[in-house]
Amino acid sequence: MPEVTAYAVASQTAPFAKTTITRRKPGPTEVFFDIVYAGICHSDIHTARGEWGTPTYPLVPGHELAGIVREVGSEVTRWKVGDHVGVGCFVDSCGTCEFCTGGQEQFCNGEGRTIWTYNSVGRDGVPTAGGYSTGITVEQDYVCRIPDSIDLQVAAPLLCAGVTLYSPLKRWGAGEGTKVAIVGLGGLGHVGVQIAAAMGAEVHVISRTDAKRDDSLRFGAVAHHATQDPTTLKRLRGTFDLMVSTVSGDSSLDAYLACLRPGGVFVDVGLPEHPSTLRLGSLTSGNKVLAGSQIGGIAETQEMLDFCAEHGVRPQVEVIGGEDITAAYDAVVNAQVRYRYVIDTSTFDA
Ligand code: NAP
Ligand code: ZN
Repeated sequence: MPEVTAYAVASQTAPFAKTTITRRKPGPTEVFFDIVYAGICHSDIHTARGEWGTPTYPLVPGHELAGIVREVGSEVTRWKVGDHVGVGCFVDSCGTCEFCTGGQEQFCNGEGRTIWTYNSVGRDGVPTAGGYSTGITVEQDYVCRIPDSIDLQVAAPLLCAGVTLYSPLKRWGAGEGTKVAIVGLGGLGHVGVQIAAAMGAEVHVISRTDAKRDDSLRFGAVAHHATQDPTTLKRLRGTFDLMVSTVSGDSSLDAYLACLRPGGVFVDVGLPEHPSTLRLGSLTSGNKVLAGSQIGGIAETQEMLDFCAEHGVRPQVEVIGGEDITAAYDAVVNAQVRYRYVIDTSTFDA
């Protein structure tokens, strides 16, 4: 059983502390890979801080894993030692229900349901532990190939942030001739701007302040709109075909919905701690669609990685060590990160 070094929290308020966890020896169809980099997603923070309910502690978060295969089971055909691979939000599912066979393993309704990368229970009956660790054992079909042209540290955030934006942008038709707004320029948003631009859409960013204006334009947006100016959302009324909100905190849905053209679609991917309210008239007036989207399946995650490789979509990352995770959480919540913290696991054994 390989022992790996990890960073865990013991409670909602505890700082991260270094620990050792045990991974199972890879079974016949599993791989063990060395995690080289792990992204910090705001979902890790919501979970660790108990904002979505109390998780199982000690908790090792991390669902943006990029690494290198070290060991493969006797029947593994898809991977060999040395391959660059990634894992996102889930590590297993039944594989046979209509959602798994339809490429939406994140909605598995078969026995055991979707097994999340952390805060779940694995097929071995042991609580799952995520990417803030130096290695993991995963069933071969839940691993994605990281294209050679994408460095591992830059690839990590794509495993969640990338697919979470790629999937709704594709599903709802971002492309030539469409005006798309990305709301919130954080870890998810800055990847979404690049993907939507690569799909051919006219991309706008709606952010709270002007601080990230230059970055929006550099990522491929044609305009950056700051809502700190109270006239901004009024000026944007009736503008967009598609809006994707990555907002992690409380905000007003009605004001955003008013920015859609008639027939427009507002997709929420942000998961704030508190419930949101809206006036239903914000939808009926203009036949608008309010939709949600949760990550993407394995095939779509691979498609997204290949798309990003081909179109030069690259997260902008700040690399940190294991001892920096606690402070990094506060910086993410305060929107100070530019634009994704990625943990370098080689710092764990220092
Ligand atoms: P992040 O890096 O913190 O970015 C969130 C951005 O939202 C901030 O940079 C900020 O952008 C904006 N924002 C924050 N609070 C706001 C408020 N009160 N009003 C308006 N805007 C606000 O977080 P992330 O990692 O991108 O994740 C974003 C959200 O998506 C989180 O809730 C996360 O849990 C969720 N998520 C969902 C999925 C899914 O599958 N649906 C997957 C991953 C993450 P500006 O500074 O530009 O205003
Ligand atoms: Zn995430």
